[in-house]
Amino acid sequence: MNAGKAATKRKVPWKRPAAAARRKGLMLQTCPDCGYVQYPQQEICRRCLGGSPAPKEQPAGGKLQAATELHASIDEFLRDYLPLRIGNIQLDCGPVVIAYLEESCTARTRRVRVTASTDRRGRPVLLASAEK
Ligand SMILES: [Zn+2]
Repeated sequence: MNAGKAATKRKVPWKRPAAAARRKGLMLQTCPDCGYVQYPQQEICRRCLGGSPAPKEQPAGGKLQAATELHASIDEFLRDYLPLRIGNIQLDCGPVVIAYLEESCTARTRRVRVTASTDRRGRPVLLASAEK
C-alpha cells in the first residue's frame, strides 16, 4: 500500500481554503508607528506600546522550526481526527505561529506557506503547506 496516498485520504478537522485564498498573504496585526507585526492580536503594539495596530497583509512564507504529532486532545471535537500534525513556524514577517501541517509537509520540509482557514466548527485555524 502506498503510504502517501493513504495520507491524502485522511479526514482533517479543517476546511480546505480555495486556491485564491492560498495565494494571498496573511492578515496580521501591524503597528502603523513602528511596523512591528504581532500575533496573537493585542490592543497595543508589543514593541513600541503604540495604541492602534491594525490588520495588514503580510507575506505568508516561513520556516518550519519544529513539528509534532498529537495523539490525544482534551478537545472532544479533535478526537475524531487524531493523530494530527502541528508545527511551530517562524514567519518571514516576524511572529512565530502554531499551525496544522497539511499532507504536503514531510520530515524534510523546511519552508512552508501559511494560510488562514476555519475548522469544521467555524473556528479560525492556520494551515501550513510545503512551499513549492
Ligand atoms: Zn509599534
